[in-house]
Amino acid sequence: MPMAGRTEKAMEQPVLYGDGDDPIIINSGYRSSEVNKAVGGVKGSNHLTGCAADIRVAGIEQLVRYATILLDISDESQEDFDELLLEHSPKGTYWLHFAVRPSGNRRRINMIKG
Ligand SMILES: [Zn+2]
Repeated sequence: MPMAGRTEKAMEQPVLYGDGDDPIIINSGYRSSEVNKAVGGVKGSNHLTGCAADIRVAGIEQLVRYATILLDISDESQEDFDELLLEHSPKGTYWLHFAVRPSGNRRRINMIKG
């Protein structure tokens, strides 16, 4: 989906990729500092530079599956990433935060309780 012309508010709406039974849903991509604060994002978040995406998953199995796929792609392509964070909320929703910077990637992997 082209990003040009989308408003910032629209960019905070989920975006679907693919049209099969199992589309990839991006909950959050680029955030302004105001939006980042409003959603409880951390200072210096990769979302502020548009380098991160939060991928919605159906549950912990899909969370682990997507994380494994991304690790395999990184290893096979020898392209590093900055953050691979397996996150969940107290409400029991799960998402995968994945970030790639133009340089200085830290390959940070963690589980985060949101
Ligand atoms: Zn995120």
